Amino acid sequence: QSVHEIIGEMRVFAAYGREDIEDERFEKSSRSSFKTDVKSRRVRARLTGIGEITLAAGICAVVGFGTMEIMAERMSAGELLVFLSYQRTMFKPIRSILGLLGRLGKALACSDRVFEILETPTLLQDAPDAIEAPAFQGRVALRDVSLTYGGKADALAEITLAIEPGEVVGLHGPSGSGKSSICMLIARLYDPEKGSVEIDGTDIRRYTLESLRSQIGIVLQEPGLFDLSVAENVAFGLAEWDLDEVERACRMAEIDHEVQSLAEGYDTVIGERGLMLSGGQRRRLAIARALIRNPRILILDEPFEGLDHATADAIRETILNVAGGRTVIIVSHHPRNLRGCTRTIHLEAGRIVEDSVAEVGEAI
Ligand code: ADP
Ligand code: MG
Repeated sequence: QSVHEIIGEMRVFAAYGREDIEDERFEKSSRSSFKTDVKSRRVRARLTGIGEITLAAGICAVVGFGTMEIMAERMSAGELLVFLSYQRTMFKPIRSILGLLGRLGKALACSDRVFEILETPTLLQDAPDAIEAPAFQGRVALRDVSLTYGGKADALAEITLAIEPGEVVGLHGPSGSGKSSICMLIARLYDPEKGSVEIDGTDIRRYTLESLRSQIGIVLQEPGLFDLSVAENVAFGLAEWDLDEVERACRMAEIDHEVQSLAEGYDTVIGERGLMLSGGQRRRLAIARALIRNPRILILDEPFEGLDHATADAIRETILNVAGGRTVIIVSHHPRNLRGCTRTIHLEAGRIVEDSVAEVGEAI
């Protein structure tokens, strides 16, 4: 699994209120994953080394002792050969036991790491006087927002932006211009270093993370699907759910029929990272996951990435169909994927360089 995918999955955890994560923590876990790997390889190398030497010594001993016995005419050469061949048969299970011990070593090393991650305190936390967010209308505003991710260069430089409920905003711009950063700020996966993010006029830091995130549907750049059933992936992060809700979300994401035609329908386990599904199906499940909460604010970060034109167009249609009254933000570096948005914003190097509202009925 690549570092990129792990980040993606951890963000899904964060976005759906299971966990809060931060770079530092991720760095720590990736560094410790490296250490774990080195440690387990060392253990395994040592075990295999010792094992092989012992086995070789065994052969030497048998051949040496056998030769003496043959010379003393107490044993025939044939008997020695038979004995050696038995010995070889015995080696195989011994080798696999050694292999298992090596793997056990790895598992033990990993369990340290798992506990380390679980025990790391979360960095983004509720303010001591945080309140439950009321039901949102969906007005989103960024006020003089700057974000540096702790570095010196601005990922976002004093962005000011107001989005009204019901707007379907297409965000485009080159890679690294800050599109994902804006998405993550709105779902409060990060806090800005300067300025504030507001929903319906209130700084989102006033709200508990849980009550905020439960009202925002977000599809991250990496869909972050898990080796669970379709239903469990769609309902991911919900404490309580029933199949009806999952089906409704899948109908809205227009994946319902395809799910029903899978071998076990909604119970089908989709493989690690959803590998049993096509790219378009993975996106649709991620969209269903965002929609199951019936969010007022729907954010889709590059939902078209890696899809062919036809699939991307179909997914764009689906998104526009479910927009109805929600505040929608769609990110894509290809303006062609933003046709149908009511407004488009062009970002470059962390700044808004163009903000245009479509004429009524005009397709951008
Ligand atoms: P986009 O989505 O438009 O490609 P991003 O918002 O991902 O842009 O990134 C904007 C800038 O912030 C880039 O220069 C990127 O290198 C930096 N950046 C993004 N995520 C992080 C992070 N987690 N830590 C440090 N820098 C980051
Ligand atoms: Mg991005």
